Amino acid sequence: MADRAECPPASLPLRERMKIPRQHMPEQPAIERAANFSEVNLGYSEELALQEALRCLDCRKPLCMQNCPVGVKVQEFVDLIVAGDFLGAAAKIREDNVLPAITGRVCPQEDHCEGSCVLAKKGESLGIGYLERFVADYEQRMGVFHVPAVPPTGKKVAVVGSGPSGLTVAGDLIQRGHQVRVLEALHELGGVLAYGIPEFRLPRNIIKQQIDYLRATGIEFETNVIVGKTVTIDELMQEEGYDAVFIGTGAGAPLFMNIPGEQLNGVYSANEFLTRINLMKAYKFPEYDQPIVDIRGKDVAVIGGGNTALDAIRTALRLGARKAYVLYRRSEAEMPARAEEIRHARQEGIDFRLLTNPTEFLSNGEGWLSGVRCVRMQLGEPDASGRRRPVPINGSEFDLPLSVAVISVGTSANPVIQSTTPGLATDKRGYIQADPITQRTSCKGVFAGGDIVTGSATVILAMGAGRRAAKSIHEYLTTGEW
Ligand code: FAD
Repeated sequence: MADRAECPPASLPLRERMKIPRQHMPEQPAIERAANFSEVNLGYSEELALQEALRCLDCRKPLCMQNCPVGVKVQEFVDLIVAGDFLGAAAKIREDNVLPAITGRVCPQEDHCEGSCVLAKKGESLGIGYLERFVADYEQRMGVFHVPAVPPTGKKVAVVGSGPSGLTVAGDLIQRGHQVRVLEALHELGGVLAYGIPEFRLPRNIIKQQIDYLRATGIEFETNVIVGKTVTIDELMQEEGYDAVFIGTGAGAPLFMNIPGEQLNGVYSANEFLTRINLMKAYKFPEYDQPIVDIRGKDVAVIGGGNTALDAIRTALRLGARKAYVLYRRSEAEMPARAEEIRHARQEGIDFRLLTNPTEFLSNGEGWLSGVRCVRMQLGEPDASGRRRPVPINGSEFDLPLSVAVISVGTSANPVIQSTTPGLATDKRGYIQADPITQRTSCKGVFAGGDIVTGSATVILAMGAGRRAAKSIHEYLTTGEW
């Protein structure tokens, strides 16, 4: 509990609340953090959290909650912070969100809760993500675990994939009394949270703590199991006695640009680049051998404008790159990355070359990358995605010297399960077809959600699918109706 003597009065009139400016998140100075892998955002103190929570206007129709894919009761948890009941606030979030310390760090709040906050209409929205992170970290420091006291149903569910969709299904189902086992192909749990998002945005110990919390509620985890190879979905249901299966295998297969020179040494997919660094601990170089080309003093570019692209280039900077470029074919307004990540990257000195598209990777004649040929672009009419289409400007080609290029232009479905599960319907790109409300697939007892259904999206959307799937798995297990 916070020391109430230091707290602003909870009864502050609305007009006074509206005068409180948004409390900024303390950060590592850009010049220091660009050379280390420690977390950029340092977290709110109790005083900052209380000040920020007081800005909530307690709207009669809280759009923040309606626009949260997992339905976090924002107003209620913020009121508990104002009352100084931080553990109560954490428990309130946990009613709807099994990974609060993670979403508090990486959720694109500007597209959901904060984007619909009334305060954003005239100034800056309530710092809902920062407050969520604060209470989740507080709960962790206090070592509090809520183990559900529900009678076991005797039903068994296998969850394939330990990314945010799978962890959410598992967390929600264990609270309903079902036995849950998560099967993960990699040697580490967490999906993209672990192998994609770098330490300086989402520390490994935070992922571990959140998963330990789930483990303490009774969920079983098994790593190094490739469902579709080690064991099939049919075997899980027919031979191992699972009553239902959830597939949350993500969209981790990288897409390439199909331009000349992509096979050169020094050209990576973002997926490979980040996996080597995050899972094989290249970020701890020289303590761990760096399983990628030595970047120190070299010029590096990432191609793309999403969170993955920025994670890759900010990682390259921290590994000692001399110049670190983002090459993106549209303008900043169309960049899919979180606003905070773009701001942080700029502060750290990342050189954004917008409206720029690579057409060829150049060789040094010995099989290694020496540069990239680019063409300048301009924006035309909106395309199918609603964003303005980038159009090349004739005669604007130029060469940029480079030693390392990281391609981050999207991903596609992880394919193993689809090819080994007879009757499992997929779309023409290989994504599993699932009902958008119930997350049911074409196979009885099999549900799917997250990136493997929607294509690459966000943590909170994957978690939203996980919540819907858990609800309908529970209905299926209790009624037997399909
Ligand atoms: P994943 O997280 O991809 O997890 C799938 C899991 O299934 C993996 O662990 C995989 O190993 C496992 N698996 C696959 N096949 C099998 C199999 N056959 N058997 C067993 N296990 C299998 N989103 C945000 O909201 N904010 C961000 O800041 C953000 N940053 C990102 C940064 C990067 C570098 C990347 C790549 C993505 C980022 N995203 C971000 C997107 C977000 O991480 C994903 O949308 C989300 O993780 C999808 O969750 P998921 O559960 O569907 O799948």
